[in-house]
Amino acid sequence: MNVVVRGFFWIVTMKFKINSCTLVLALLTAPFVHADAHGKWSYSGESAPDKWGTLNHAFATCEKGFNQSPIDIQKTIKGELPPLSMSFNAKDKSIINNGHTIQIDVNDGDHLVVDGTTFTLKQFHFHTPSENLIDGRTYPLEVHFVNSSPQGELAVIGVMIDEGQENPVIADILNNIPARINQAQKLSKPLALANLMPGDKHYYRFSGSLTTPPCTEGVRWLVMKDPVYASKAQIAAFEAALAQKNSRPVQPLNGRVVIH
Ligand SMILES: [Zn+2]
Repeated sequence: MNVVVRGFFWIVTMKFKINSCTLVLALLTAPFVHADAHGKWSYSGESAPDKWGTLNHAFATCEKGFNQSPIDIQKTIKGELPPLSMSFNAKDKSIINNGHTIQIDVNDGDHLVVDGTTFTLKQFHFHTPSENLIDGRTYPLEVHFVNSSPQGELAVIGVMIDEGQENPVIADILNNIPARINQAQKLSKPLALANLMPGDKHYYRFSGSLTTPPCTEGVRWLVMKDPVYASKAQIAAFEAALAQKNSRPVQPLNGRVVIH
């Protein structure tokens, strides 16, 4: 019996011992048992980021990896990187609060070309405070645009969100966050995503990983040099919606270089 099935039966048995009502509950929540049996991770307590690597063997890279994200972007090397060229046309989107972040899944074709490979935008999500730091500075929010190549390679664009003017796209996102965890909701109107991308398209580039388990490496990271803005009230509302700090601490560079 594998871990998932054994874990499932254990939970069902335990719940049944409590009373039959909770058995019904266990069956209703069965889709989430899979995640529990694989080591539930979080941002605090026994499943906090410094424990991720030991929660499950599938998360070992979180502890043993040498190219982990996020990082503090400090010493950088000039690489004459061309400004990022990205069009945000995606219209068909849904929004979910998955308990770790607020994520917008994108179902149509926004493309980004890096190293001659075309990446397609799959989703974007938020962290508070920012995961990457720029010159030791933390920002109130960071948005990650996750792009995938046909071969499954990942390129993530990070954009810092600083306190300033109200941002219309943040207002739209705040208005649409589903009340319930793991309940995706269709977005009724297109999001003006250009408001989440600074006017100056210069960026820092480095090799890194997913910032959540399984912390898979080989991710091309592109962090925009300039932030975008949201009002103090919007930042507070976003922090309240996320209900927790959801940032992994910065990881050692281990000989990596950051190009700008
Ligand atoms: Zn992220």
